[in-house]
Amino acid sequence: MYPDRVVSGMRPTGAMHLGHYHGALKNWIKMQSELPCLFFVADWHALTTHYDDPSVIERSTWEMLVDWLAAGVDPSQSTLFIQSRVPEHAELHLLLSMATPLGWLERVPTYKDQIENLSNKDLATYGFLGYPLLQAADVLIYRASQVPVGDDQVPHIEMMREIARRFNHLYGKEKGFEEKAQDAVKKLGSKRAKLYNELRTEYQQDGKDEALEQAKAMLDDAQSLSMGDRERLFGYLEGSRKLILVEPQARLTVASRLPGLDGRKMSKSYGNSIALREDKASVEKKIRTMPTDPARVRRTDAGDPARCPVWQFHQVYSNNDTQEWVVKGCKSAGIGCIECKQPVIDAIVKEQEPMHERAQQYLDDPSLVRAIVADGNDAARKLALETMRDVREAMGLAYT
Ligand code: SF4
Repeated sequence: MYPDRVVSGMRPTGAMHLGHYHGALKNWIKMQSELPCLFFVADWHALTTHYDDPSVIERSTWEMLVDWLAAGVDPSQSTLFIQSRVPEHAELHLLLSMATPLGWLERVPTYKDQIENLSNKDLATYGFLGYPLLQAADVLIYRASQVPVGDDQVPHIEMMREIARRFNHLYGKEKGFEEKAQDAVKKLGSKRAKLYNELRTEYQQDGKDEALEQAKAMLDDAQSLSMGDRERLFGYLEGSRKLILVEPQARLTVASRLPGLDGRKMSKSYGNSIALREDKASVEKKIRTMPTDPARVRRTDAGDPARCPVWQFHQVYSNNDTQEWVVKGCKSAGIGCIECKQPVIDAIVKEQEPMHERAQQYLDDPSLVRAIVADGNDAARKLALETMRDVREAMGLAYT
């Protein structure tokens, strides 16, 4: 019905580290050549947990954007923008909040987890409870078909789908819908109209999902329809409502996890991270001093890669031959740890070289980043306004 589109955002955390690169950015870079992608800095989301210290948001936003570009997010392929520069996200959030049951928000698993994990902060706020709804608005406003997420975020996408469904159910009602839908069927031309009606019956009477998919594909190809008729025909297939908001699918990220230098999750706050654009000397020092299997006290002691964080780096960075060399050499004390770490250092330095190069132009001329984002803000806003026009109309707010 609407074109396939990916939406994903990140809170502005400042300079990114290699854990972010392997966990999310690499996936963005892959997706941008496959589908239209919108990537945004979720600066309002930063306020849901850091409302008492907004001073870092601006700097963190620009640092993070330079890192995205350095990593290879390509503004000629994807749209980069800042959430707060598209204020329609807030409007949709507000409108969705009117009909979203409180229980849906309270049962989001990360809500309770975060309240417990961040017990040093007072998160008993309206904004924090509502952040999954703001996330829903961030995605639904672009009628995104796919959202890349890790396993832990799947319940959020489920909730977005429920919200879209509820919205369509409540506001997709239209006076004379049935007649208008039937008129729209006629506009398909007699052959297609016949097929549409057959497929609709097969789906509604016999529950055949293939019939629904086939009918949707046929509507995708029917270029001559107006947007309103298209929404009606998609809605008419499944029931008696227009489809205004699109239910997004979770696209599970198959990311290689890069742990921190001490084997825990890589995080700036644990002091175990390597920045995306860390300089070479510092990378060498950090890897050389990285802890290894505690049982390998002397060079002659045999070790076990399973107990060593360096091995986890090899799993991300090394090919099979090198990995075999590590396992054999470690278990037989044939190699020393410094020797074992060298291929990891080389691989990280090599990975970072193009990142340093790409970043340099943006560091030399920060107005380039501003211009990319200004274009992205405009492009995103245009799409958001299209959806909001339909949303306002459906909710009876389009009067003058
Ligand atoms: S040889 Fe490599 S895998 Fe084994 S303990 Fe040393 S650094 Fe770790």
